[in-house]
Amino acid sequence: MWLRIGERRLRPAKIVCVARNFAAHARESGNEVPADPVFFLKPTTALIPSGGTILLPPESARVEEECELAVILGKGGRDVPRERAMGLVLGYAVFLDITARDLQAKARAEGLPWTAAKGFDTFAPISRVTPAKKVGDPHDLGIRLEVNGEPAQVGSTRDMVHRVPELIAAASRILTLERGDILATGTPAGVREIRDGDVLVGTIERVGRVSARVARKV
Ligand code: MG
Repeated sequence: MWLRIGERRLRPAKIVCVARNFAAHARESGNEVPADPVFFLKPTTALIPSGGTILLPPESARVEEECELAVILGKGGRDVPRERAMGLVLGYAVFLDITARDLQAKARAEGLPWTAAKGFDTFAPISRVTPAKKVGDPHDLGIRLEVNGEPAQVGSTRDMVHRVPELIAAASRILTLERGDILATGTPAGVREIRDGDVLVGTIERVGRVSARVARKV
């Protein structure tokens, strides 16, 4: 799918996610907060637009939502210094990092990659992109995720451990960043299991709203 920003479209290049970037979520998953950001990739084939359907794969018995601020890059770079990192940012979106938690736990226990846990088709709902200028400081935005109208995650980007410039700088030391890259900045506490028939609505202050239905993959 294409990312939409106003009347323009942008082809997503890759999805770079950061693990355990909110101390409270790291704690609820029984993990330490890493001293340096830890990244993993989600395939762009997992993206669906707001209003789409998350399909629960038969391979997993427990799928959870993670509502996150996504940074959309308008420019690429490698070894980007922290002071120049915000110059790459085109805008922001609301992103759901859908996770097959049982497959992730098994992979972690066995020292195996997270590709299946994070990478199923439909596991990356994303909102329209709001231009960076309209959002301003990305480190003081309320994040809220409701499941069937009930609040699940209520947090703020204020609680990010590693902030946006640091994440861009650190990621760009590992992999070349490109125009159209999506950087998902981690999730606050309160993630919960999602089930067939659930309706998810994620909102981030000044950024926007993403919604998705949940259905069983047949
Ligand atoms: Mg996540």
